Amino acid sequence: MRVPMIVGNWKMNTTLSGAVELVNKMVRELDEIDSVDKVLCPPFISLAKIGKLIKGSSIKLGAQNVYFAEKGAYTGEISPLMLAELCEFVIIGHSERRKYFNETGEIVNQKVMAALKVGLKPILCVGEKLAENEAGRTEEVVTGQVSSSLAGINDINGLTIAYEPVWAIGTGKAATREQANETIGLIRRIISKLYGEKVARDLRILYGGSVTADNATEFMQQSEIDGALVGGASLKADQFLSIVRQTAEIKQTR
Ligand code: PEP
Repeated sequence: MRVPMIVGNWKMNTTLSGAVELVNKMVRELDEIDSVDKVLCPPFISLAKIGKLIKGSSIKLGAQNVYFAEKGAYTGEISPLMLAELCEFVIIGHSERRKYFNETGEIVNQKVMAALKVGLKPILCVGEKLAENEAGRTEEVVTGQVSSSLAGINDINGLTIAYEPVWAIGTGKAATREQANETIGLIRRIISKLYGEKVARDLRILYGGSVTADNATEFMQQSEIDGALVGGASLKADQFLSIVRQTAEIKQTR
């Protein structure tokens, strides 16, 4: 049985006080929803404070990025070792990092490796661009991204994959549930080929891209979709709570 998971990616939003305010608005109610893993990914500077606020609750913490070296002269970067003391999860390979910070498949691969090495659980993002989708290249692109991100990694215990079509992120234009379910099924087959059927069956694969309280149910009803990576809607406590509640209801009654 895969435990469903809803991840809130706050991106570069909220000051430290804003982050505290947002968590305070939802911490009690979120904590009470069981059977779903709830992960908050605030900006780096808020991790320690939010970690204290949710301590003792069922809410988990994640970072939005990590560098691959353990320490050294990399001004401004944050290492996996530093994060491992603060949080359990880390988002890697988000399309915004690939687009604005030139993260290549090779860099993403090194980051996934480095995170796993210190026991951080990577949430690996993959997904095709609009032109690739329109050219019918989704399968090829996603297959390439999954394979290159995991090259040389023998044990993916702790990994979650998020399928995020780039054209659906922050655009209000979500994929259809059929498209999302189909591509996530494809990712599971790739993992099965690389790591065997059991690993693929146990791997959580999320959908991300304009998920809101209004469309969450249709995604969560899909058999291959184990949860969501939520950007914009995770900045509104009532929306995020609603997405988590809908997920709990749907996945429990399966
Ligand atoms: C994301 O940040 O990964 C994301 C899916 O954003 P949004 O929900 O705003 O599309």
